[in-house]
Amino acid sequence: MLKIGANVSIAKTGLLAAVQESITYDASTFMIYTRSNRGGKARPIENFNRDEALELMKQHNIIDPVVHAPYLINLASPVANTWEYGVELLREDIRRTEYLGIQYIVFHPGSHVGEGMEYGIKRIAEGLNEILTGEETTWVCLETMAGDGSKVGNRFEEIAEIISLVKHKERLGVCADTCHWYSAGYNIVNDFDAIMQQFDDTIGLDRLKVFHINDSKTPFDSHKDRHENIGLGSIGGEALKRIIHHELLGDIPRILETPEGRYKEEIQYIRGEIEAPSYLK
Ligand code: FE
Ligand code: FE
Ligand code: ZN
Repeated sequence: MLKIGANVSIAKTGLLAAVQESITYDASTFMIYTRSNRGGKARPIENFNRDEALELMKQHNIIDPVVHAPYLINLASPVANTWEYGVELLREDIRRTEYLGIQYIVFHPGSHVGEGMEYGIKRIAEGLNEILTGEETTWVCLETMAGDGSKVGNRFEEIAEIISLVKHKERLGVCADTCHWYSAGYNIVNDFDAIMQQFDDTIGLDRLKVFHINDSKTPFDSHKDRHENIGLGSIGGEALKRIIHHELLGDIPRILETPEGRYKEEIQYIRGEIEAPSYLK
């Protein structure tokens, strides 16, 4: 079964709300943020209706959901306070993910804000060495970036270098993002097989745990991170469909982070249940 879902809300009832929303899309997986990206105190994870949600997931064949850590985390930051806050936040979010029984947490490696790529890579590894104990029960996944600003982790080599510097790397994974790859200069429209080969050679396919599926508002190699609905962007629906169904992706979760409101149709289109989403007609 194809594991496909979307970034859903935890409003009011937590994990239960996320599952209920996913059911309306006929999704087989999903992704959540367990706290606001604007900061502030997180809602207690004990109030997320975990057990009821897990039961409902079972009934609807929804599996392998993903947590996305807050954007506020910047493990590449040269500013001590920012870096320490990131370490604390990611550590806490890993625990929250584990409490929910979820197997994947995705985070953005960070921005070096002018200190340079090598600095950023080392700083992120330093942060992960603070956080990871080797006892994690969840995969901690670095998301590859679009090459915008001073972000670290746009090239597979950068991700591989971070991983190489981490002591407890047993549970380190990678999250791909079609929009980010295309914007960073990986031509997934023409050369998907070659790019997967490159990924395997530099990082190793066994680390690939989550695939974010987005079209891109900006052209190939634009170094911008602007998600678009499937079929409306520069990657296009046909290419995205090919990627989603590619055998090398195996059974990892595919997660839509497209502009909201069109998840249901996007999933139907990806599954081949409809010829094209209505917004394309
Ligand atoms: Fe992300
Ligand atoms: Fe993403
Ligand atoms: Zn993005």
